Amino acid sequence: MKESIKSKEEQIPPFQLNIKDEIGSFHIVENNSGSVRIEIINKEGKKIVLSDLLPEGYEAIGNRRIMSDAKFLGLGNVDTSIADIENKVLVVSESEVKNEGRRYFLTFLHELGHIKRHEANPLFKKERDSEYTQWTRHPKDVEAFKRAEALIAQDERDAWAFAIREYRKIIGELGIPKERIFKSANELMEFVRQTSLGLKANEIRKHVVGQFSISEEGKKRLAAEIFRMYSREELP
Ligand SMILES: [Zn+2]
Repeated sequence: MKESIKSKEEQIPPFQLNIKDEIGSFHIVENNSGSVRIEIINKEGKKIVLSDLLPEGYEAIGNRRIMSDAKFLGLGNVDTSIADIENKVLVVSESEVKNEGRRYFLTFLHELGHIKRHEANPLFKKERDSEYTQWTRHPKDVEAFKRAEALIAQDERDAWAFAIREYRKIIGELGIPKERIFKSANELMEFVRQTSLGLKANEIRKHVVGQFSISEEGKKRLAAEIFRMYSREELP
């Protein structure tokens, strides 16, 4: 068993993404031990290391680490990044990085938002899990199901609020015009709708179970709120 995990690890080359243009550069580099560093640098050379924003004890990791450690079994080659609270890691999805390019910066901040929220309020997860347990034991308890869904929607909303606030703060500090990454609030909202509210259902599935998602109504409300958070003058 151990051997098969190790041989898989040896086959996985560390991944990286390097974008360089007139607004600066963006680097995502996985090292040999599977630790991932993400940095954004403006054209004057001012640098912000996004992976350093993780709280003490947390680490951003990629496929190499996942494949070499049995506790991450099943998380490898995920199509979406995941805040794995139990193992204190932010799993950086290589395919998401490749699909999103520089915009992955926002996705990373969203996952970081989940971690920050958990650190600020660890009871939230307990509460959500207990509503879920209540529902699995008493499947007719639709109210418990609804409460769990509402807690998940709230978690998503707060993680996005964190992401957009930090995103605006960071590009402001680096002097990067915001329309250089997302042309408009509409474009950003569309990005969030596709990644978070569509495909990111996986993120929820991996943490809770398949039945849970955000209701259609909740998704619309969240998209509208994201639009407002991104477009208004002052930081949300
Ligand atoms: Zn999320």
